[in-house]
Amino acid sequence: MNNWIEDGRNHIWHPFTQMKTAPAPLPVIRGEKEYLFLEDGTRLIDGISSWWVTLHGHAHPKIAEAIANQAKTLEQVIFAGFVHEPAAKLSKRLSELWQNHLTRSFFSDDGSTAVEVALKMSIQSRVNQGNKKRNQIIALEHAYHGDTLGAMSVGERSVWTAPFNSLLFEVVRMPSPVAESGPSGEDHKQYCLDSLMSYLEFHHESVSAIIVEPLVHGASGMLMWAPGALSEIRRLTSKYGIHLIADEIMTGFGRTGKWFACNHENVMPDIVCLSKGLTGGFLPMSITMCTEEIYGQFLSDDRLKAFFHGHSYTANPIACAAANASLDVFEEERTLDKIAAIESLHQSRLNEYQNHPLVADARIQGTIFAVEIKNPDGGYFSAIGPKLYDFYLEKGVLLRPLGNTVYILPPYCISIENLGKIHDLILESLDWILKESV
Ligand code: PMP
Repeated sequence: MNNWIEDGRNHIWHPFTQMKTAPAPLPVIRGEKEYLFLEDGTRLIDGISSWWVTLHGHAHPKIAEAIANQAKTLEQVIFAGFVHEPAAKLSKRLSELWQNHLTRSFFSDDGSTAVEVALKMSIQSRVNQGNKKRNQIIALEHAYHGDTLGAMSVGERSVWTAPFNSLLFEVVRMPSPVAESGPSGEDHKQYCLDSLMSYLEFHHESVSAIIVEPLVHGASGMLMWAPGALSEIRRLTSKYGIHLIADEIMTGFGRTGKWFACNHENVMPDIVCLSKGLTGGFLPMSITMCTEEIYGQFLSDDRLKAFFHGHSYTANPIACAAANASLDVFEEERTLDKIAAIESLHQSRLNEYQNHPLVADARIQGTIFAVEIKNPDGGYFSAIGPKLYDFYLEKGVLLRPLGNTVYILPPYCISIENLGKIHDLILESLDWILKESV
């Protein structure tokens, strides 16, 4: 056995992994396009963009080159008191993507820190205005916003948060307008909106912000929203002057079929969190963007009204160069066309799932496809998940079911042939479950 594999076994603690019982991690040595190459020569198709980050493909040469050039020019500089071209360019381009409604970019390191920044930004903007009482945050059922304490606080309480619940701050939890099929669907959406409306009617003066994963709850099983709910939430929050924080960490940069999930309903949030695909999936970085109005609430002759947040690697120039190169690739490779092709292929396969006896629900939002398998022990710890994970790996595809929900969230460079193969494989796995009574 190679020494480095042994070294890893002896010294690494992997995320979300029961280290006692989990099988040895797969040693990966190279990536290219939608493929990952293992040490033993196996080639895997990455059907989940390596935790939803890879956009244009692994080791994309254009982004790799931009990173190398930047690393040779300026690898890092303190971001208080200094600025550099890659960050300035990126912040302008992102503002343009948000039609200059969101004008300011605050940089941090990953999705969770982008969420922490968003929450602190909202709360301190109220404090700066002398309004300390406006300090409640509304969050939704099924929400997942990350693993730091603030991000966990706004996430739904679950087995993952259980050990830390005593440390999490209270939020106002509202039902989420996930699409329910059948005649009850419209009722459920209305119930969610009515719940929010009646809470705000009486308590809006205590509420600083509502945080949502627009259109798709990722980690809770790719649950998709009823159309129209997001714009209704925007209408209500605007009415009462409540910040709408859109966590587009997973949904941003084309995942849902448009640049951002908010674009589907012409919604402009007050604050947006971006990460994952921001750098094309090359480097950890995040940005919390806000309106000029919120930014303005931190401008003062009083130094105590500055925003009290920052990280050592804030706006790392190499990560910014990767993000700029990723935006270039969107133009040069007509990535939005690729995204549309992925969605059409999903659509063309949908009825094969809907007709399958094991399928409880199959759904699509842009490049994201999810199928929920009928299973008596559903949920994240459903026993079927790990069995399916192994089944797919054995056939050369990386898919990581969320309990009894199998989903595809592919890099945009994936060939239509390979995407078709993934669908064939998922359908084959459903037949396998039926036949073998897995
Ligand atoms: N928000 C959403 C919607 C996410 O999907 C995730 C990560 N899956 C996060 C926040 C947290 O991001 P990170 O893992 O980079 O901290």
